[in-house]
Formats: sequence, structure tokens, C-alpha cells
Amino acid sequence: MKQKSMLVLMLISAFQLFLFSAFAQVNPVPYAYTIKAEDLKKHLTFIASDSLKGRNTGSAEQLVAAKYIADHFKKVGLALVQGSYFQKVDLVNRSWTNISLEVKGKKYDYLKDFMANALAPVEAGTKAKILFIGYGVQKGNYTDFDQLKLKGEYVLAFEGEAKDSQGNYILSGTKDPSVFGKGDGWKEKLKMAKAAGSKGLILITDKDEVAFGNQVRQRQVMMQRFGNERMVQRDETLSPTGESPVLLISTEMAAQLLNTSQENLLAFKKSLGTEKKSIRSNFKTNPINLTIERTEKPVDTYNVVGYLEGTDKKEEVVVITAHYDHIGISIDGQINNGANDDGSGTVTVLELAEAFGKAAADGHRPRRSILFMTVTGEEKGLLGSEYYSNHPLFPLANTVCDLNIDMTGREDDEHIGKPDYIYEIGSDKLSSELRQVLVDQNEKHVGLDLDFKFNDPNDPNRFYYRSDHYNFAKNGIPVAFFFNGVHADYHQPTDDIEKIEFDQCQRVGRLVFYMAWEISNRDLRLKVDSNKP
Ligand SMILES: [Zn+2]
Repeated sequence: MKQKSMLVLMLISAFQLFLFSAFAQVNPVPYAYTIKAEDLKKHLTFIASDSLKGRNTGSAEQLVAAKYIADHFKKVGLALVQGSYFQKVDLVNRSWTNISLEVKGKKYDYLKDFMANALAPVEAGTKAKILFIGYGVQKGNYTDFDQLKLKGEYVLAFEGEAKDSQGNYILSGTKDPSVFGKGDGWKEKLKMAKAAGSKGLILITDKDEVAFGNQVRQRQVMMQRFGNERMVQRDETLSPTGESPVLLISTEMAAQLLNTSQENLLAFKKSLGTEKKSIRSNFKTNPINLTIERTEKPVDTYNVVGYLEGTDKKEEVVVITAHYDHIGISIDGQINNGANDDGSGTVTVLELAEAFGKAAADGHRPRRSILFMTVTGEEKGLLGSEYYSNHPLFPLANTVCDLNIDMTGREDDEHIGKPDYIYEIGSDKLSSELRQVLVDQNEKHVGLDLDFKFNDPNDPNRFYYRSDHYNFAKNGIPVAFFFNGVHADYHQPTDDIEKIEFDQCQRVGRLVFYMAWEISNRDLRLKVDSNKP
């Protein structure tokens, strides 16, 4: 019995081996050749046209692009994922409006009279008591938080930490500040204030009047330049419990709060350095009226996904990505078409989907499944891929790798006249095998000059962290990122289709095709066996 069943098993596995080695015989070349410069150009002519107004995340025109991509996925035979080609990405546009602070009937305005290190919503006109505790620090026997039990009072404290008359920090006894005296020392103070029951922290600047005024103005200019509105994951905004305002005020305003003069306040500050112990002041605090209003507008945007189910290893998924959003219209009204960034990657994903779709239609499905995904919100901070990694449509544990294409078809300064190249970043970081697959497939089929310069962890550009593959890599999933480098048209209205070399896009597209073919059909899943920076 045993012998016989062994024999049957052996026969079955021999048959399976025959089946799948028969697959290995399938010639991928004809399918790679369906990835054509003229087709890439046809798709990009639409994706990078003025009518899409730069595909800004959440714009009506980006939705038009999304529908175009989904229609293509359907046409080439890709399946829906959980009933749809669209994964809604739950983003909001968040902005801070109406921030003010009132002391004794005098109203102070945000970014004119004071600034903030952190903001959290506070209902208009909320009245809060203040407790002044010196520097708000704690180390060893020195503590400003001793036995402190607050009922929501705002903690008022000096910024930084006290120095003695020799200029040594009293907590460390040296010229090196403790954790409280460093740039983000306020975070430590906030942590302690919250643990004591405080609802927020108000810091009195360490700067003089002129320097503080300059700091506030600089912040104002920066906010104007980058805009008050910021796109974020909705989840991130749903945890107001963890958030508290940290305001930074002038010495003048602090004196108002403490019913005293600036001279008295500064004298008290000095005494903290000479006494070298925590002292409570005799100042009587005034309550504040605080308003911090936040508005949130939902963003209507989607990752576009198309699925090709595999055969005997279909639970394992190879992901191919590019971002289809771009930066929209400039303040001066010019359209940023983003032909290179990342229209080029988007249309390459369309052609890859078609190539694998054709192979499947001919009976040559890959053994592993492939998810084709054009993601949204990349330009706003890799938001679409971040959302995917937090809400994956297929378990991340079953995700074999991400092959990400962000900018192909252009040359950077170093490759003028030598267009047969591509930068590749990431393939050796998590798997010893992915780089080899890349090198082998390139040598066998494509012959591009592979440039690994930007893969250096010491490269100051840090491109490894700057496109969507990173949201896979940070979850331990091997990635390969294809990129042509930056050029003068990067994020400019001049990033237009006329400048794209489609032969180069075609080569990169075919290289990614051969890699995906190999990775999805080989016997063993790519190993995850290293963790390089
Ligand atoms: Zn990009």
C-alpha cells in the first residue's frame, strides 16, 4: 500500500513537473514584443495631454485618467479586485483656520504674535487655566513635574533649559544640553505635561524680541509658499486624543499671562540657572481663551488595480506599480503634464498588463498572480501606496515583490547622448536574488546599461525613499525601482511628451516584463534574506 501510494504520488508530481517545466519552455519574447514604443506613445498622448490638467490628486481630471486606465485593464483581460478596478484611497485635505489666543481681553494672532510646534483642534473660545512650571524639565532630583496632577490646565514653561553663570547647562553640568535643551526637546516636555494631565503646552521663546519676530515671520512665509492645506491619510487625522497643541509665544505675551513685567519674568528665569533647583514663581496666571479650528475636506481619489490570477502558485502576488498622479496646475496657470513623471511609468504599466494579458489569453498564465497598480497621491507624499500598504488587497505576507517604474524615457545630464541606460534602486536590499534576476534578464534580453549609482545608501538624494516602492520595502517586500534620474524639466510645465524617447521606455518596459515573467514563473519564491540600508 505504502509503496503504491508513493508511486502514485511520484507519478503525480512528475506530471506536475512536466506541466510546469512545459510552461518554462514558453517563449516570453513574443509577449515582450507587444510592448511597443508606438503604443506607449499612443497612451501617453492622452495621459499627458492638457485636457487632464496635470492629473492632480483628487481632481476631476485625475478621475478621467483613472477611468482610462481601468478601461484598459478591462480590455486586456485583467480581473477586478474585490469587485472593482478602483481602490478608494481615504485622504483628506486638512487646513488650519482661525487660530487665536486671548489673554485679559487682548487677542493674539497665529503667525503674527505667536507660532506653534504642534496643533490640535480646540473648540472656539475654549477657556483654559495655565500653570507655570519654570522650564518644564526633569532629571534626577531636579523636577518641575513633582507630584503634578492637572485637570487639563495648559502648562506654561520656558523653551530649552537653564544654564548657570558659566554657561553650563544645569541638568548636564556641561556645555551639552540634555534632551530638553535640544531642537525637539519640546516633545519631551509635552510628553511629561500630558502624563501630568495637561491638555497642551505653551512655551516662552528663548529668543529676544527681534529674533522671535523674525522666526514667526519666516514661518509665515514658509506656510504661504507651501500652502496651508495639506493632504493626509484620514486615519492619521482620526486620533485627536494623541494630539495636543504646543504654542510658542514671546516673552512679552508670557508677561501678560503671568501678570508681571518682562523684566521680572527674565529675572526669574535667570534665578532658575543660579539656584540650580526647581522653583515655583509667585506670578499669578491669567486664564486664556484659545481657538484652533481645523477643516477637513475629503479627497475623491483611487489607486487603479487590475489582477491577473496565476496558476499553481496564485496565492503569491507580484506587484507592478507606477503613479498616475502628477502636480496639476502651477500658481501661474501653466499645466504640468508630467509626461515623464510619471506618465511614462503609467503607460508602461498599461503595456505590461497587455503583454501578460495576451500571454494569459494564449493559455500561458503566470504561475504566480500579478497585480498591476497605478497609484495616486505619490506627489503628495507617497499617499496612495502608503494607503495600499495599510489596506492591502492581497496579504503583504504573500506579496513577492514590487517592481516600480517612476520616470523612464528621458536622460539626465550624465547620460546625454547615451540614452541606453536606466538607474535601478533597491533590488539588492532585501533579497539576494532580485538583483540577479534583473542582471540576468537584462543581459539575456535587453542590454541596457544598468546604473546602480543611486542605490548607494550614502547618496544624498535618497531616491530609495522617494517613490512608491518604499511603502513595500518598509514592509520587508523586495523592490526594484526604475528611474531615469532628474533633469531640468522635472516638476516643470515643460515635462512634455515631445521630450520622451519612447524607444527607451520600450526597453525599460520589456526589462520589467522579463523580470516579472521570471519572478512569477520560477519554482521558488524570491528569497528575503538581507536587509541593507
Ligand atoms: Zn514620480
